Amino acid sequence: MALVVQKFGGTSVADPERIKAVADHIARTVRDGNEVVIVVSAMGRTTDDLIRLAGEVASPRPGRELDMLLTAGERISMALLCMALGDREVASISLTGSQAGIITDSAHGKAKIVEVKANRIRDALRAGKVAVVAGFQGVSGSHDVTTLGRGGSDTTAVALAAELGADCCEIYTDVPGVFSADPQVVPDARRISRLSFEEMLEIAASGGRVLALRSVELARNHGVPLEVRSSFTWEPGTIIDKESAEMEQAIVSAVTSDASEAKVTVTGVPDKPGIAASLFRALADRSVNVDMIVQNTSTEGATDISFTVPKDDLDESLEVAMSLAPVIGAGSVRSDSEIARVSIVGAGMKTNPGVSATMFEVLARAGINIEMISTSSIRLSCVVKESEMERAVQALHKELGLG
Ligand code: ASP
Ligand code: MG
Repeated sequence: MALVVQKFGGTSVADPERIKAVADHIARTVRDGNEVVIVVSAMGRTTDDLIRLAGEVASPRPGRELDMLLTAGERISMALLCMALGDREVASISLTGSQAGIITDSAHGKAKIVEVKANRIRDALRAGKVAVVAGFQGVSGSHDVTTLGRGGSDTTAVALAAELGADCCEIYTDVPGVFSADPQVVPDARRISRLSFEEMLEIAASGGRVLALRSVELARNHGVPLEVRSSFTWEPGTIIDKESAEMEQAIVSAVTSDASEAKVTVTGVPDKPGIAASLFRALADRSVNVDMIVQNTSTEGATDISFTVPKDDLDESLEVAMSLAPVIGAGSVRSDSEIARVSIVGAGMKTNPGVSATMFEVLARAGINIEMISTSSIRLSCVVKESEMERAVQALHKELGLG
């Protein structure tokens, strides 16, 4: 008997027909002799609709009441799913994040799980029931309802799988797995059958939207194997697990892109110790998540520093940089929000020289200018104009032979 955690995303439970299809699948999993824990997202675009609704009465800011509102979405799905399971004579119980023992810190809108007290889930399993847990939510030490950030149901599923020692954690969505590029941009993108946690982390961090980044970090830290699958076709999907010797190491597995960041450039920065420290400390103190950083070599004692931040944090970053510029003796502060980051990811990059040269050549042949470059051992990213992003992805996918 295996213990299986299955997470169903918003599109998988978008309407009554979808909920019934999911209930059928859960019933099959139970009848195959498994213990089953389910995590659900809100139906379809419910979370977006609730945020919009909040915007009609006030300007919605992360906080207690917004979290209270948003957590209602997942409650609807979990209750409806349990009713559908009841119809199929599958015993189940719905649990809110709080009832399921998901204890978080109190950072509303982006709470982190600090502990999972899964007693009620264990009780349910012992009683032969399916536990259906509302994803994306928890409760803080001061008993307030919290949310984990957009896409947070994946994180709920992985946290429960880790705590319960589940044999696997299946993430059901509307695509049959992780692809070598976004199939809407690259029609001949392929489904990848296996990825290492490291590759999936880089894919999630560089714009691949199939899994929330934090859920992959959590899965890696706890060694929880994941499988991303389609709840529309139920076919085998993409398995994400520890890197193993027999795993085929593609030099490049995927091309990703991300247009969610903006670039800030501080010019004429004095080239002396402590300047970068004070700039990035000030940004960190305002919880701005800085991604890429490039500093030029200095000419005549001054240099330029460029960095990227989420577009949502641009105003705040500009405020910080502008108020700091006179203090550190910098020249001007500029920004550009029409940028995009295009990345290639692959575990085999570690041991294969020349991948960066190839990437730059492909972009050069396509006449696409590179504004910034950053690398990790298994990822290469280039910032280009947002208007050239799709063309860059298509050219790289084709020329790297990923189709
Ligand atoms: N319903 C939440 C969202 O749309 C959480 C999730 O789907 O994972 O972000
Ligand atoms: Mg969602």
